[in-house]
Amino acid sequence: MGAPRPRSPRPAGGAEAAFLPGPPASGATPGYRAPSCTQGGARRAGIMTDVHRRFLQLLMTHGVLEERGVRRLQKHCYRVHGRTAAVEELEDFINNINSVLESLYIEIKKGATEDDGRPVYALVNLATTPVSKMASDFAENELDLFRKALELIIDSETGFASSTNILNLVDQLKGKKMRKKEAEQVLQKFVQNKWLIEKEGEFTLHSRAILEMEQYIRETYPDAVKTCNICHGLLIQGQSCETCGIRMHLPCVAKYFRSAPEPRCPHCNDYWPHEIPEVFNPDKEREAGTSKANKKPSRSRQH
Ligand SMILES: [Zn+2]
Ligand SMILES: [Zn+2]
Repeated sequence: MGAPRPRSPRPAGGAEAAFLPGPPASGATPGYRAPSCTQGGARRAGIMTDVHRRFLQLLMTHGVLEERGVRRLQKHCYRVHGRTAAVEELEDFINNINSVLESLYIEIKKGATEDDGRPVYALVNLATTPVSKMASDFAENELDLFRKALELIIDSETGFASSTNILNLVDQLKGKKMRKKEAEQVLQKFVQNKWLIEKEGEFTLHSRAILEMEQYIRETYPDAVKTCNICHGLLIQGQSCETCGIRMHLPCVAKYFRSAPEPRCPHCNDYWPHEIPEVFNPDKEREAGTSKANKKPSRSRQH
């Protein structure tokens, strides 16, 4: 996760547009490059069955799903299309699909939510995705509103932009004039489409947007972009050292200080002045089973 990937020689085509012409041909490309979510798993020639195709279709309609949802979706697809088929491990199942998707320059990528580190999977373009290509169903002024929100989020200390600050920029949008009321609805559309997350009237990037646009954001805002001192991935929300200024993702903070009796900055060794956040723990999750589906993870904001 977060490993730099080679720039694609082809321009982005949009995942939907690339997929729609029909089910991808079966058979993997020789010399397939493992996607960033593999952990040294065996590379195998991908054969797409109806189970894989249905899974891909459903994942596409969601855009992004938490791992729990992905596992449910996989089970569902086997139930519908492959009652007698041997069930592949999730990692193999995804690698299999990715080996076929590779020729379309799209990939199912694994990431994690920035606030609590829940694993998520999204279908993303391998080529750099600029705002103008991220979704075909938005008008020019709507995409420009997203760009404005993105800039405010990237420039902020906290990784959040208030709706007031975003709406104050509607007069500067390219394309058709937009009223503030409309702009509010457009922001909600970005939330529904999982490009933005809203918390208490403030907006930040959804992990789908981070997975899809990391490369674009790094290239477009090289001076404003923040990275995590631990995983070196793009950082939108996180904690920072008050002495030397380095930043860490909340899940990276939790992991890094897990067994430290006294948390100290990994860069300057000064005392780490923030509360160590509670984040997603797969072992705890397994113990608790599915019974606590309603439990809300900790949503405290820190920076
Ligand atoms: Zn990190
Ligand atoms: Zn420091």
